[in-house]
Amino acid sequence: MKRQAKPFFDATRIPGDLAPIATEASPMLPGDWRTLRPVVDRLKCVKCAVCWLYCPVQCVVEKPRWFDFNLATCKGCGICAQECPQRAIAMIEEAA
Ligand code: SF4
Ligand code: SF4
Repeated sequence: MKRQAKPFFDATRIPGDLAPIATEASPMLPGDWRTLRPVVDRLKCVKCAVCWLYCPVQCVVEKPRWFDFNLATCKGCGICAQECPQRAIAMIEEAA
């Protein structure tokens, strides 16, 4: 097999500012950009914890008589509302 004359990838030839890589985590949380938020009907919630089980970012929090949401980290995906067997969660638009 014929050898390559020069290395296929030579990192030393890439200018330092060509492809900047993020090295600092953003201080933004999902609550800063979410468009919909979950609201639980406290009378319908039976504390089955299905919403807690399905939430992909684990922002469902247990209250003494219902389950609620940490709105700083909730991204508004609506999975909890889809999965709630009691239809106790409504997704409402964030105020502009
Ligand atoms: S899934 Fe619905 S009924 Fe079950 S704990 Fe969550 S909000 Fe309450
Ligand atoms: S909307 Fe999505 S991120 Fe927010 S509580 Fe429901 S499942 Fe979790």
